[in-house]
Amino acid sequence: MTVQREIPEKEVIVAASESSGLAIAIVDGDGNEIATVNNNSICQTLNPSGKLVKECSAFCGLALAEALEVGGRSSFTCHAGLECATTAMLLDGKPVALIVGRTFVSSEKYRTATERAIDGNWSELDPSKLFENVLLTASSEQIEKTLDRLEAASTTVEQPETVDLEVPPIDIESIPDDQEVVEIEAPEPDATIEIPAERDRPETPVPPINIVAFRSFFSSILSQDYESACNSFLELVSRNYSLASLAWLERRERRLAAVAGTGVLRDRRINLGIPPDDPRLANAAKESVPVELTERASSAGSSPRTMFLFPVPVGSEIPAALAILDDIESTLVARQISRLCQSVGPKLEILRLRSEMTRKDSLADAVRKFSQGLKHADAADFWMQVTQIAAELMQAERGSLLVLDETTGTLEIKAAIGARNDLSKEVLPGNRVARIILDRGKPAVVADVERSGLPPVQTERGYKTSSFLSSPISLGGRNIAVINFTDKASGAAFGRADLDLLDGIVPQIAVAIDRAILKERAGELHQLSVTDELTGLLNRRYMDERLMEEVKRSNRHGYPTSFVMLDVDHFKSYNDEFGHPAGDEALRLVGQVFQETLRGADVAARYGGEEFAVLLPQTTSDEAAVIAERLRANVEAKTFPHRPVTVSIGVASCSSELCTMKGLVQAADRSLYEAKHGGRNRVNVYGYLKPEER
Ligand code: GH3
Ligand code: MG
Ligand code: MG
Repeated sequence: MTVQREIPEKEVIVAASESSGLAIAIVDGDGNEIATVNNNSICQTLNPSGKLVKECSAFCGLALAEALEVGGRSSFTCHAGLECATTAMLLDGKPVALIVGRTFVSSEKYRTATERAIDGNWSELDPSKLFENVLLTASSEQIEKTLDRLEAASTTVEQPETVDLEVPPIDIESIPDDQEVVEIEAPEPDATIEIPAERDRPETPVPPINIVAFRSFFSSILSQDYESACNSFLELVSRNYSLASLAWLERRERRLAAVAGTGVLRDRRINLGIPPDDPRLANAAKESVPVELTERASSAGSSPRTMFLFPVPVGSEIPAALAILDDIESTLVARQISRLCQSVGPKLEILRLRSEMTRKDSLADAVRKFSQGLKHADAADFWMQVTQIAAELMQAERGSLLVLDETTGTLEIKAAIGARNDLSKEVLPGNRVARIILDRGKPAVVADVERSGLPPVQTERGYKTSSFLSSPISLGGRNIAVINFTDKASGAAFGRADLDLLDGIVPQIAVAIDRAILKERAGELHQLSVTDELTGLLNRRYMDERLMEEVKRSNRHGYPTSFVMLDVDHFKSYNDEFGHPAGDEALRLVGQVFQETLRGADVAARYGGEEFAVLLPQTTSDEAAVIAERLRANVEAKTFPHRPVTVSIGVASCSSELCTMKGLVQAADRSLYEAKHGGRNRVNVYGYLKPEER
C-alpha cells in the first residue's frame, strides 16, 4: 500500500486531542515515538525514552506495519488494556503510524491496570507517575471519530480545525469540604425507592448553561481528589439548575451507594430499588434520559417524592449515577444533565480508581508498620502494647481488647487505653456489644450509637463522638477476641476506610494473641499439643495450620509471605559418632538459636527429625533471606559440645499473587535441596513462586 496522506498540522493534532481527551502518537517503522500529545501516563512510564520497548513494541511498535498490511485503519487493545486505532500517514515523506486513543474504554480494564500496579508486574513502577494522566473514554466510537477528523484534516492542511468542546463547561467558587463517607450499620429511616412511571414533563425553557463555570470545572477536575470532585460536580449542577438535593452514587458490588450529597441527600444512605446492572439504566444512558423512581414510603404521610436517577456510563458499564430528588421541569434540562453525567463519568471514574489505589497502597504500608510494631511488643506489657499500637494506627483515642477465656466462655478485658474510668467497667460502647460481635463473627462500624438501637452511651463517660468500630479476632475459624475503638482523633465518625484498615491488621493481632495465650498457659495441655517437647519450638501440626491460614490471608490482603526450611548438615554422622542423646542435645541447642534469633510474629517449628521451618508473615523474599542468613550464622557460631553444627537453608516466598501452601512448602524444600547440593552451611533463596508453581 502506498501512503498518500500527510500528517495534519501540529495544531490540528493538538486540537483533536484536546477536544477528545485522547492521546495521539506518531510512531515510525522502527518503533520510535516521534511525537505524542496528551500521552497516557502509563505509556509514558512504560516507555520513558520514547523507544517502544518490551510488550509495547508488539503493539504501538508494530502499528505502522499493521496499518500498512491492512491497507487502512486498524484497531487494537494493547497489553496494558488500552484501546487504540491507527492509520498510516506520511511525515516528511516517510511513512509513520498515527495512533489515536491509548485510553481505557472499560473501567474493568483500568481496574486490572491498577491491580498490576499494586501488586503485579508494574509494582516496581512509581504509581504517582503511572497514574498521573490516565485516560478513560466512554466508548471506542470517540477514537474512531477523532481519527476520522484527523484523516479529513490530512488532505487539506491549511484548513483550521474547529474545536468544539465536547464537554460544555463549570466553575467552582469554592470546593466543598471533604466529606466523611460513612457506611452505617444502624437502621436507616431512609427512603426506599420503587420503579418508575414515565411522566410527561412540560417543555419549559432551559436555563442557559454557565459555560465558563463548567469549562473551568472540567479543566481542573483531574487535579482534585475524588470526593471533592464529586462534591464540586454536585454543586455545579445544583447551582446551574437551581436544584437542592443531589447525590453522587458509585457502584459497590450489587448496589449504588452515595459518595457525596447535598440538601436532604447529604449524609444519607440511599436505598435504591434498582441494581446497577438493571438494563433500564443502560437504556436510559443510551437515550440520555434519567430513570424515574418513586419513593416507597415517605415520612409523615407526605406524598411520595420522585427521584431522577441519571446513569453514568463508562464504556459498557454503569459505575456511577447521579440522583436528584427535586423536580426537573423540562425534558431538555434532563437531557443536558444526562450529557453532563456522560462527560464527567470517565473522569470521576479515574479519580475513584486512583483514590482506591492510593488507599490500598497506604493500607499495605500501614499493615507493614503495624506488624513491625507488634514484633517489638514484649511479654510484660503485651496486651496494653497491642491495643496501643492498634489504636494509634486506627487514630482512635480509646481502644480496648477483650479475649475469650475458653474454659469459662467469658470475655475478659485484657487492656483498655484512653479510658478515664475504671478498667473493669464497660469502658467503651464496643465492650457492651463485644459479645454480639464475637458471636456474629463480623466487624461492625457504627457511625452513631444513638441510632444503632444499642443502649445509649452514658454521658458521664465523656465520649467525644458516638461512633465506634469493633471487630472479632479469629484464628483457624475460632473467634478468640474482640477489639474496639472509639473517639477517632479527628472527631469524625469511623467509616469504611477504617474498617478496611482494621481488616488488614486483625490477622496480625490474632497471631500475637494466640501466641500470648499459649505463653500464658505454659504447661497446659493445649500447649503440649502444639509444641515440640525436645526443642520447645512449635510442632509441625501447628505450623501447617498457621501456614494454611497465612497463605489464605496473604492471598486476601495481597502481602508477601515467606517460608524457610532448614536441615542440619551431616547429622547422621553426628549421631553415629557421639550417640543419639548427644544428637538430641544438639537439636535442642539449634532450637535455642531460633528462639534467640527470631521475634514477634515469626513462627518457628521443628518440622520433623532434624528439620526446622520458619514462617515469616508479611515478609518479602529479600527480608526472609536476611533472617535466614542470620539463623545460619548464629547456628554456625553457637558452641556445641562435640563439634560445630551447621544448617542448610531454603527460602521461598509468595508475593501478593495467589499461591498455595503446597506450592510454598515444595518450593522451600527444593530450595533447601539446592543449598545442600551447593555445599551445605548456606542459604539458598528460591525467591517468589512462579505462576505455574502457585
Ligand atoms: P544432610 O542433611 O546434610 O544431607 O545429611 P544428614 O546426615 O543430616 O542426612 P539425613 O537426613 O539422611 O539424616 C538425618 C539424620 O538425623 C537421621 C537421624 O539419625 C537423625 N535424626 C532425625 N531425627 C532425630 C532426632 O530426633 N534425634 C536425633 N538424635 N537424631 C535425629
Ligand atoms: Mg533431613
Ligand atoms: Mg540433615
